[in-house]
Amino acid sequence: MFDCNDRMKFSLECRDCPRLAGFLDQVRHDHPDYHARPVAPFGDASPQLLVVGLAPGMHGANRTGRPFTGDHAGILLYQTLHRFGFATAAQSLHAADGLRLAGCRLTNAVKCVPPQNKPELSEIGQCNRYLQAELETLTKGTVVLALGTIAHQAVLLALAVKKTLLPFRHGARYELANGLTLYDSYHCSRYNTQTKRLTESMFNQVFSDIVQNLSKNRPSTRPRECGAATAR
Ligand code: SF4
Repeated sequence: MFDCNDRMKFSLECRDCPRLAGFLDQVRHDHPDYHARPVAPFGDASPQLLVVGLAPGMHGANRTGRPFTGDHAGILLYQTLHRFGFATAAQSLHAADGLRLAGCRLTNAVKCVPPQNKPELSEIGQCNRYLQAELETLTKGTVVLALGTIAHQAVLLALAVKKTLLPFRHGARYELANGLTLYDSYHCSRYNTQTKRLTESMFNQVFSDIVQNLSKNRPSTRPRECGAATAR
């Protein structure tokens, strides 16, 4: 009998988005050494901070199998996670480099690489159940950091919050009814960092606010070291 929980459980074999599944077939053919499958969340199973990105990068997470690893998008993110005590190293090189996250988990709104890095609305909706399942495991006081508008809206969709109520704005902080706190930042993509839309100091400020918020709301909890990738 079909169990609806099965649909919520992340699977490396998921092919529910026909366009993305077909694209991954082609990528696997062209790059047999690439991960080229849905990319699992990485980090702490019970994080204080959940970082939500857009989707795996073609030659980054889609290649290495670890979110934000192997391309430009991860450079500033891992540097900053390390600076604020959420990562054991400042660089994420590949899935077997021994880096661990502490009190933090990374995930994406869409788990499969989309052509031109642009998921369709239906794909964001289709994949949202996995994000919803991840958000349901978070305890009160956990911070969710959305990187960019699509991640922000995917979080709201997963929580059944109207997106017009809480618009995306870099640096915004929203206290959500379920006890989570949502922060927004511009995505740390190559484009945004090279055009200075997002600078290191702007990103530091967001993390500084988050850490301050966490120490105020969860003073007795310190980030703990996590194991390897957590697949759901
Ligand atoms: S994007 Fe999500 S729902 Fe779509 S095929 Fe990939 S894992 Fe499945």
